Amino acid sequence: MKMERIGRRNYVVTFALDAWDLNLHFITGERYNYVIDTGLGSGSMAPILAWLQKSPKPVVVVNTHFHWDHIWGNHCFGSALIVSHRLCREIIAEKWDDMLLKNRRYVRGTAEKALPNLVFEQALHFPDDGIQLLYTPGHTVDCISVYDERDKVLNAGDNIGDTLDELVPNIETDKAVFAQTMRACQQLGVAACVSGHNVLLGPAVFGQILDLL
Ligand SMILES: [Zn+2]
Repeated sequence: MKMERIGRRNYVVTFALDAWDLNLHFITGERYNYVIDTGLGSGSMAPILAWLQKSPKPVVVVNTHFHWDHIWGNHCFGSALIVSHRLCREIIAEKWDDMLLKNRRYVRGTAEKALPNLVFEQALHFPDDGIQLLYTPGHTVDCISVYDERDKVLNAGDNIGDTLDELVPNIETDKAVFAQTMRACQQLGVAACVSGHNVLLGPAVFGQILDLL
């Protein structure tokens, strides 16, 4: 496990697993601390919880999409807000048991069903903190991205492929929908791009993916 600080208030925790790397990300805002994706259970969340214990601010948990490796630690945050796209909540509610059954060997610590309790359609803004949540379908139909306007760091979830050799992710929507998402990300003017599994990337990645499509 390694923790890397990006910009003034963004931190990425990376776990090197057997088959792939897993990035968990948190942002220390003025009003809230934001935890983006909750990994494989309480074991994935432990280093982040330890860090956040030093801060009195409430936590806002964000699920970038419904896939199991992004949601299994949702229960670690008590009564915190858990935010996702509306479709993400619906799909987790339907598929939780099945995803856990099929992938139980990947659980770290405990995984308990905790659904998002705040959902949105197109965008959700936390103006006090300069944090935008944006609907960015592509990898899955329910994908959202998190943009820190102040550090200009974007978390694009799994809309970036898992490795440098595989920048284009699995795409569940029409390719045109995903291409539109890449163009929208390109227009934000980001300085750095965090994703679910890849290394930290620069703003050129969106154009590279568009070229590869
Ligand atoms: Zn995924």
